[in-house]
Amino acid sequence: MQSRKLLEEESPKGKWSLRNFEIGKPLGKGKFGRVYVAREVKSKYIVALKIIFKEQIEKYRIHHQLRREMEIQTTLKHPNILRLFGWFHDDERIFLILEYAHNGELYKELRKKGHLTERQAATYILSLTRALVYCHEKHVIHRDIKPENLLLDHEGRLKIADFGWSVQSRSKRHTMCGTLDYLAPEMVEKKAHDYAVDNWTLGILCYEFLYGVPPFEAESQIETFRRITEVDLSFPPTPCVSSEAKNLISRVSLYSYSKRLSLQKIMEHPWINKNADPIVICNK
Ligand code: AMP
Repeated sequence: MQSRKLLEEESPKGKWSLRNFEIGKPLGKGKFGRVYVAREVKSKYIVALKIIFKEQIEKYRIHHQLRREMEIQTTLKHPNILRLFGWFHDDERIFLILEYAHNGELYKELRKKGHLTERQAATYILSLTRALVYCHEKHVIHRDIKPENLLLDHEGRLKIADFGWSVQSRSKRHTMCGTLDYLAPEMVEKKAHDYAVDNWTLGILCYEFLYGVPPFEAESQIETFRRITEVDLSFPPTPCVSSEAKNLISRVSLYSYSKRLSLQKIMEHPWINKNADPIVICNK
């Protein structure tokens, strides 16, 4: 039997090496490396091993981003956040030992289906909100939540992955980062921003889950900027989406971040109450 507890007990920091793992099939290729399914020899626990070449880290000058991602992700232990169990390196590569998300990217599911059902969308939004409450309590702002950064485990449970753009902060931030379509107005306008940027993104994702496209998508970046800053939000007639869902999206997608629904209020919203699977497992 495979045991996660055993894996965690067997992993005094810095003691891992490639000898501890049997490498299986490739899971995917990212900008900075490849990911393989792997099995830890002693515990037989299945993980995802992300391999990043040091050369790439130097080339793209991502030392700080990677270190931050590793430091933040190891401290986060929540059912909807992908675990980083540890890491090790050799002369050329860095290996991240990650929780295995059997069902891959939520993005792929969304593209395959076109859009999600209200039940699925509400379940994912509740999972995300719970994970963000946890992150914000630990003073972590993710800032780059998008379908590509959301993975699904074998039970269809949502896992936030990729903390490369997150920051641990108690004060307001000024840097602009993240993907354009999901950026809050205060980030587009390079103003100080805080936790409310993640609340904004929940509205964008909720819209994208239900309609299949993000709300401010446009031909050019300039046009997307304009649509975001003017909160040029409209709901197409198809697919048919409930007025409660539209209400939630409209109350999160507000220019003034202090007026956006809080994470607590999102979790208590009637649309969530009515549609989200209470055990937050989205069966397919
Ligand atoms: P990344 O380098 O993080 O963008 O990962 C590249 C691809 O590998 C992603 O698109 C996923 O499909 C896959 N992948 C990454 N991490 C995991 C994981 N923990 N479990 C399963 N698949 C993963």
